Order: sequence, then structure tokens, then C-alpha cells
Amino acid sequence: AGTQRFGTVAAVEEPISPPVEVNYTKLLINGQFVDSASGKTFPTLDPRTGEVIAHVAEGDEEDVNRAVFAARKAFDEGPWPRMTGYERSRVLNRFADLIEKHNDEIAALETWDNGKPYEQSAQVEIPMVTRLIRYYAGWADKIHGLIVPADGPHHVQVLHEPIGVAGQIIPWNFPLLMFAWKVGPALASGNTIVMKTAEQTPLSALFVAQLLHEAGLPDGVLNVISGFGPTAGAALASHVDVDKLAFTGSTQTGKIVLELATKSNLKSVTLELGGKSPMIILDDADIDQAVELAHFALFFNQGQCCCAGSRTFVHERVYDQFVEKAKARALKRVVGDPFKKGVEQGPQIDEEQFKKILKYIQSGKDNGATLVSGGDRIGDKGYYIQPTIFSNVKDEMEIAREEIFGPVQSILKFNDLDEVIQRANATRYGLAAGVFTSNLEKANTLMRALRAGTVWINCYDVFDAAIPFGGFKMSGHGREKGIDSLKNYLQVKAVVTPIKNPAWL
Ligand code: NAD
Repeated sequence: AGTQRFGTVAAVEEPISPPVEVNYTKLLINGQFVDSASGKTFPTLDPRTGEVIAHVAEGDEEDVNRAVFAARKAFDEGPWPRMTGYERSRVLNRFADLIEKHNDEIAALETWDNGKPYEQSAQVEIPMVTRLIRYYAGWADKIHGLIVPADGPHHVQVLHEPIGVAGQIIPWNFPLLMFAWKVGPALASGNTIVMKTAEQTPLSALFVAQLLHEAGLPDGVLNVISGFGPTAGAALASHVDVDKLAFTGSTQTGKIVLELATKSNLKSVTLELGGKSPMIILDDADIDQAVELAHFALFFNQGQCCCAGSRTFVHERVYDQFVEKAKARALKRVVGDPFKKGVEQGPQIDEEQFKKILKYIQSGKDNGATLVSGGDRIGDKGYYIQPTIFSNVKDEMEIAREEIFGPVQSILKFNDLDEVIQRANATRYGLAAGVFTSNLEKANTLMRALRAGTVWINCYDVFDAAIPFGGFKMSGHGREKGIDSLKNYLQVKAVVTPIKNPAWL
């Protein structure tokens, strides 16, 4: 597909950045890039064409065992958990500097493997990774417990210690950002890691893992296994020597992983799962702003966001106007080769997701929703899909209930605040919500009534390393980012010592 304004074809410009060289394709175990024990590899594909970018070592149970052994040894005997927080912060800050230095190269690798617009990778996501690593570097020397008062002459210390070996399993939609959300807090607090990347996007994590070693990370502290879920992922989730498991992915896989994690030992588990997040637009909202942000909330990252605003509820008094403007905005969306300037939307990640999304579009049509724009693929190569809008969507339709994970906006109508609260909450998910209104009281009512881990008011997808992110209900357990994520990686130890002849109690 060339650069297309959906509906019209925009000028095709030269790519901003050509694909880079792929230098890291092996597994990272104990500080060395090695082949998999089986010798097997798998291809990682370019979503623009479906062509092979590189063949990557395929880790499975045996490699996971080796990686966990290395991480265990690095935790039990190595310097990382034993060095001062300040020393760990120095390594993380040097790592951030190196990411910054290689920003454009990493962004090109990410776009090539994932299909997201290069400008988004280079100007937003990789800089967010750098900031997040610096944020956790800042925490590394500020992690401490406290002294608590106790009844009687006892000196009570509450210590915060690293948990041990963390198993981390991440998805493909924000490959390096998800990597950073996981390794930042785990490393700052002195843990060691075995990371299983998504099989669709193994490249950027391997690239930055070598930067982390260049920054001074001791061998065995971070191990990276490329491979598939049911083999490598399951081996990691169920491993008896893993003390903590952090997973991001679908709710369906989250359930499997939770079961595996508790079968062997009782490792603590955090889950960041799917969503079906409501965007609620009241009749007193700034409609142009709401149209733009509802568009962004859904179409950003090709619609492949766990927190996508995928149920757009619009008040009946402004409904028709909103739908017209949303359509005009979607028709202006620039879809095309993600390496070209000005492109807002690249291809979907792979054929499986592409087909799944087209099936949901068909289901919207079959169930009687009104197709306002789009509804088809673009071109005949790669996984490009037209920005698609359905209006007159009803709550019971499949497109209003299931996570589509693609560029398909569903616009629903409401007329009363209580009604929209009830409908917005009538989902098994609870990841995020958006509220658009100029009425402070109504914003307050909605902010408290919505059962979601994040509520954005007159904005959407505002992410910062300090803001906790995670879900209510079947969107997950625990939080990523901020101080909440650090707590996931810390054990609490109470030490009680009697005090003989205290000067005072
Ligand atoms: P997925 O659940 O299939 O895969 C996620 C990861 O889990 C991959 O690394 C995969 O290899 C691994 N995996 C798959 N089966 C496994 C198994 N049996 N045991 C252990 N690991 C296994 O999800 P996906 O389709 O790759 O990603 C998209 C989904 O992830 C969406 O539903 C989206 O909502 C969700 N997601 C959630 C968040 C969040 O923060 N809540 C972020 C990104 C994506």
C-alpha cells in the first residue's frame, strides 16, 4: 500500500528512515547471546508486506530453564541485589542515555517489526521508554522501609527487599514500552529477570538488552527469551524458581498464566489484560475536541491498545453532529507505509489480527450497525485496514462487547447520565474510561461511578511514568508504572528486636 489518505491518495513521499540492520537475533542468557538449545528459529515478519525480516532463535522450556538458572544465581549470589540503590541508579541512567543515543535506530527497528508509524516510534514511544527508565533510576536509591511503633519495648523495622527472580511476559502492541514498564521497576528494586517477548516483535528488546549490558548490568540479571506462548511463556509462568510473574496480554491468556503460576509455587502475579473502554461525550462537551480525542483514543496505534476507547457513547442531542464530524476525521486519516512522513496509521501486526478485525467488521454489518466509513482492507499486500466507523451500535452487538484491537470505532447513543453509567460499567472489563464535559459536577459524578483503573477527563491516553496503570475486574490485577509498580517487586520483612531498659517507650 502506498501512502493513502483514506478515500484519496496523498503524495507518496520518500521513507524517513530505511529499515536498519538486524544484529541481535539470539537468546540472551547469562549475559551471552546464544542459540536455542533445540537450534530452532522462527521468522519475524514485516507487517507492511508479510515478508521475513529475520530468523530469530526460538526459546522453549530448556532455554527458559537455563535462563531461570542464570537469573536465580545472579539473585542469590550476584552483585545486583547487593549493591547500593545509587549504584543501580547509575546503571539505569547510563542505560537511558544509551537508548537516547540510539533513539532513531531503535525506533526504526520497532516500526519495521511492529508496523507502527516511525514518527510515533521515534518522537513518542522510544522517548517515553527513556523517561521511564530515568524515572525508575530515580527511585533506586529511595527505596526503604520504615520503623514502626509497637506495643511494648520492641524496636520494629519494616524492610523492603527485592522479591527475587521475576518472570515477565509481554505483548507485541508496544514492544519496547512494555519491556520498559516491566524491567524499570524490577531492576530499580534489585530483582533479576527472565523476559519472554512476544513472538511477533522480538527485535527491539534484544537490541536494548545489549545496551543495558554496555551500561554495566551484571551478567544474568536480565535474560531475554524470544519464543511462543504455549512453550516458552508457559514454561516461565509455571517455573518453580520464579518468585514473581508479571504478564501483559489478553484476558484469555491471563487466566491460563495465572493458573500455571500457582500450580508449581505460589508466585505473586500481576496481570495487565484487555479492555472495552467507554468514552462518554456529554451534550455540553467541546464537540470538536471530543471528536478529535475520541478518534485518537480509538485509532491510535492502529487500534491496538488495551485501553482503546472502543465504545464511544454520545449524548443524543449531539449524536448526529458527532457522527458526521467523526466520519470527516476518519476520512482524513493518513494510512500507509509507516516509514513515510505524515503517516498516522500503518498496517495491523499480522495476518491473524488482520483477519480477526475484518471478521468483527463483518459482524457489525450483519448485526445491523450503520457503516459510516471504511469497512475494508486497503491494497492487496500487508495488513492495512481502513479507519472504520459504525454508528447506531447497540450494547448487545459483538462489536460493542468484544475487544476488536483494530481501527474500528463504535458510536452508541445515550440520553441520561445514570443510564450511561450503567451501560458503561456493564462489561467484564475495567481498564480505562474517558469523559468529555464542561460540567464539573457531572465530571465528578462520572469519575467516581466508572469502574475503571484510569479515568481521563477531557483528555485521553495521557501516560506518564509516575501515573499508575492497570485494570479493575477482568482487566487485571495490580498496577504498572509509578510507585505502585515498584511495590510489585518488593517483599516486606518485619524485624522485631526487644529493647532492654529503653530510655523511653
Ligand atoms: P496474548 O495474550 O496472546 O499474548 C501476550 C503474551 O503472552 C505473548 O508474549 C505470548 O507469547 C504470551 N502467551 C500466549 N499464550 C501463552 C501461554 N499459554 N502461556 C504463557 N504465555 C503465553 O495477547 P496478544 O494477542 O499477543 O496481545 C493482545 C492482547 O493483549 C489484547 O487483548 C490486549 O488488550 C492485551 N494488552 C493489554 C495491555 C494492558 O496493559 N492491559 C497492554 C497490551 C496488550
